[in-house]
Amino acid sequence: MHPELAAKYDLRVPRYTSYPTAPHFSPAVGPDRYASWLSALPPETPLSLYVHVAYCAEMCWFCGCHTKITRQYAPVADYMDCVWREIDMVADRLPTRMTARHLHFGGGSPTILSPADFVATVQRVKNRFQLAADAEIAVELDPRTADEDYVKAMAGCGVTRASIGVQDFNPVVQETINRIQPYDVTARVIGWLRAYGVSHINMDLVYGLPHQTAESLIETVDKAVGFTPARISLFGYAHVPWMKKHQRLIPEDSLPDTAERWRQYETATQRLVSHGYVQVGLDHFARADDEMAIALKEKRLHRNFQGYTTDVAPALIGFGASGIGSLPQGYVANEGGIHPYKQTIRDGRLATVRGIGVNADDLLRRALIERLMCDLSLDVDAVCARFNADPAQFDPDLEKLHGLEADGLLHRNGRRIVITDEGRPLVRAACAVFDRYLKMGEARHSKAV
Ligand code: SF4
Repeated sequence: MHPELAAKYDLRVPRYTSYPTAPHFSPAVGPDRYASWLSALPPETPLSLYVHVAYCAEMCWFCGCHTKITRQYAPVADYMDCVWREIDMVADRLPTRMTARHLHFGGGSPTILSPADFVATVQRVKNRFQLAADAEIAVELDPRTADEDYVKAMAGCGVTRASIGVQDFNPVVQETINRIQPYDVTARVIGWLRAYGVSHINMDLVYGLPHQTAESLIETVDKAVGFTPARISLFGYAHVPWMKKHQRLIPEDSLPDTAERWRQYETATQRLVSHGYVQVGLDHFARADDEMAIALKEKRLHRNFQGYTTDVAPALIGFGASGIGSLPQGYVANEGGIHPYKQTIRDGRLATVRGIGVNADDLLRRALIERLMCDLSLDVDAVCARFNADPAQFDPDLEKLHGLEADGLLHRNGRRIVITDEGRPLVRAACAVFDRYLKMGEARHSKAV
């Protein structure tokens, strides 16, 4: 893509990990409504469970996650006690002991947990939910805090996938983002994972970081590929210091401009593809034999709060501070502050503070946006047929794609859209024409590129 186009479409648009997106959640959905949604779930509904471990040992200055720094273990143990209580409280409101097909530990740093507390958390889930025999259990793993005992405990619990945070192997970049993680530390943890049988390994890389160049990123990509991970994600750093105050510690003049961000994205993408990885949607890459690449080919890919996923469970339940859930009736979000979260749970109440119920129009627009984000193509008529809806209602929205089409970023034939290779990084801008809520708010989102 020409740098001028990258700059022209320097839009602030949602990442569309949900629709309606999180800025449109409101306090109208609280604990009572969440409880009623849980109790109304058909008992056979497959579930996906997410446990948010909201602590880290040290702050990485680029971080955009909900986390709190602690040097002591007592606050972590106290927090996990509340997560265990929350697991019980949610399970008590479900119609039966329901089946979970996915269990995902994210954060924060799940590896800040003691091995015993990690095992106890999985056990708590197993006590209250039927964990399917082929369930995927995935853990986000910080190599700086994961020791061999932890990896052994994970493997003993049946963990099937580990997502390893790397970001960039370059020491100057690592120093500027306050995340010193020598190559050998990453190599050591991957060795343990493979030795104990956790065979599915994902690796997370980031572009747009301070002092990064396309050339330094290529070195990082080559080192990552050397570990033969099944999946690699390549996220753009979102510099939002008005929301994440620690990002002010990153000197703004060390950040690449929009044109350079694009060059990094394009160069790293080409390199990953040349190594045999299949590009999935916007920011994921998978080996051709990985389930994600297969789901892409078969148009079965989905999108949830973790990004692109093969998870098809219609109900996602989030535990922990800032945990987000997605139920057939709508979205719910927990209290984000750790102390209020703990207090609410200790008082015996669900910690839901925001959410939004979804109506038929939301579900239809969500399907349109999801197909476009996942397949990079969209047949509006086909999606509308699934919902028994009139596709002509979207003709005014489709007309808004004219600018993107004129710039060669997509092709349109009536109500069929195909995003071009050049337009792939800007697919979110195309999705935005179907977003009825975007016009209603002034929420600030991350850059499209
Ligand atoms: S380890 Fe991850 S969650 Fe924790 S501060 Fe660093 S980037 Fe953020």
